[in-house]
Amino acid sequence: MKMEKRISGHTGLMALFGTPVGHSGSPAMYNFSFQHDGLDYAYMAFDVNVEQMPKVFEAIRLLNMRGGNFTMPCKNVAAKLVDKLSPAAEIIGACNVFVNDDGVITGHVTDGVGFVKNLELNGVDVKGKKTVILGAGGAATAIQVQLALDGAKEVKIFNPKDDFFARAEGTKAKLADRCPQCVVTVEDLDDKEKLAEAVNNCDIVINATIMGMKPYDDVSLIDKSLYRKDLIVADTVYSPEKTKMILEAEEAGCKAVGGKGMLEQQGAVNYELFVGRKMPLEEYQKFQKENK
Ligand code: NAD
Repeated sequence: MKMEKRISGHTGLMALFGTPVGHSGSPAMYNFSFQHDGLDYAYMAFDVNVEQMPKVFEAIRLLNMRGGNFTMPCKNVAAKLVDKLSPAAEIIGACNVFVNDDGVITGHVTDGVGFVKNLELNGVDVKGKKTVILGAGGAATAIQVQLALDGAKEVKIFNPKDDFFARAEGTKAKLADRCPQCVVTVEDLDDKEKLAEAVNNCDIVINATIMGMKPYDDVSLIDKSLYRKDLIVADTVYSPEKTKMILEAEEAGCKAVGGKGMLEQQGAVNYELFVGRKMPLEEYQKFQKENK
């Protein structure tokens, strides 16, 4: 279908809001998917700051936008402006997705859902599992909350004693209230003995810090001597696609799951929330390869 035929007087608008947004791959991915599925929507990206968010919500309502995304630094304020929040978004106090059902706007957090879904696709069920997760930022918090909501037995958080540490303690307190069946602990990442003990006793170890990502791609926060064949090692970092952590885990014979799948599954989860059907992910990947 040609673009001039695709946009009509009926076309519904969806969008990404935040700053910066110019680099985002979301418009290309969602517009390809709408076109592929014959759905009459168009997806744009708008560069807005936190102060402009009340006006953004007026626009969402005025233009009757079906849905869209929020990125940094607008995710927290967005959670205050929606009408309803998903369980994870309520616990976290932020949302990266909104869906507008006849004027009622619901905010969701899908990083954690995408992460768990990607594990599932790799044959890993988090229910009843003991997990160790490094990090306490946006991605880490979303994953910690989703692991608890999806029935993980333990979530042991390790983070440096930086500005994010208090956030990990806040997550622990909230999960003690909302998901009391899940044991959540918070430790200093510098305590290498505690970290080694936790990794030795867990089923899944996850990196959700910025370490491993370029320019820190020569770093892995887990000593490779801790890897054993029945340990599942997951990274949120997707650039490089195979981090040092993932390469070392593979070498040791662990099941190693990189961050690219999380990113893709998050997009797919969002698409399902927007239009109620599976995203044509494979077709989009093929299109991307052919149009590099
Ligand atoms: P953030 O800024 O919110 O959090 C950064 C985290 O890194 C904090 O926990 C901080 O304490 C930790 N950190 C910073 N310097 C450190 C150091 N020297 N040693 C150890 N830890 C350190 O970032 P975020 O948005 O949560 O992103 C974290 C990672 O998750 C990034 O690598 C990002 O690429 C990845 N991510 C992946 C996806 C995906 O879909 N795969 C989605 C979102 C984020």
